[in-house]
Amino acid sequence: MLLVLDEIATGFGRTGRMFACEHAGIAPDIMCLAKGLGGGFPMGAFAYTQAIRDVLTPGAHGSTFGGNPLACAVGIEVVKLLESGDFQERSETLGAHLHAALSALIGHGVVAVRGRTVKLGFVFPAEVSVLRREIYDRIQEENRAAAGRV
Ligand SMILES: *Cc1c(COP(=O)(O)O)cnc(C)c1O
Repeated sequence: MLLVLDEIATGFGRTGRMFACEHAGIAPDIMCLAKGLGGGFPMGAFAYTQAIRDVLTPGAHGSTFGGNPLACAVGIEVVKLLESGDFQERSETLGAHLHAALSALIGHGVVAVRGRTVKLGFVFPAEVSVLRREIYDRIQEENRAAAGRV
């Protein structure tokens, strides 16, 4: 059995480490990568262990824009920028500030704040789910209205 991890949103320093799975001491067989890899430039990739290398030979997995030299050059530069660890450290620092600020809402409609660095979420009490649904519906309405204005 293979362990496949999606590090698309969490990879490349966004949780204070190069990859979020490092926090749990997990080493996947396959890792899905994008977003942070391009630092804003659209690109994605997947990385895999040596064992899988024998199955996925060159050309076995492709896509229309796969292997784009510009995207690869951008990805290489992003990885170089992350080598010092400064970005990961900044993620930790900003995350600590954000967590502290958002934690002030605990007891005021929020049960807990959870997550890592700036990737945080609120835990709401169960009775808020009705209100949450109303807020979600209202946002969807606003989005549809805004799309109609474009
Ligand atoms: C954005 C995202 C995806 C999808 O990536 P696309 O490049 O839009 O297909 C998949 N998984 C996670 C966790 C994401 O954040």
